Amino acid sequence: MTALPDDLSCQELVALVTEYLEDALPPAERVRFEAHLTGCLGCRRHLAQMRTTIRALGRLTEQSLEPAARDELLRLFRNWKAQ
Ligand SMILES: [Zn+2]
Repeated sequence: MTALPDDLSCQELVALVTEYLEDALPPAERVRFEAHLTGCLGCRRHLAQMRTTIRALGRLTEQSLEPAARDELLRLFRNWKAQ
């Protein structure tokens, strides 16, 4: 499922997840993101978890995540990947 050179890796997806949830990805990136999600159960679960987390934090504004919130989320991503 990861043979195509323009496929997103799980790490790339994780790096783009906040932009995706903010609806800030360029259309081409969004397509690649969603293509990866289609084939990757782990990332689908991760995305669902991040949605829940962001909602719980209540920090996803119309503009952007605050830098502190973004740092916290990136830390969570890394911890998740390390498991
Ligand atoms: Zn993945």
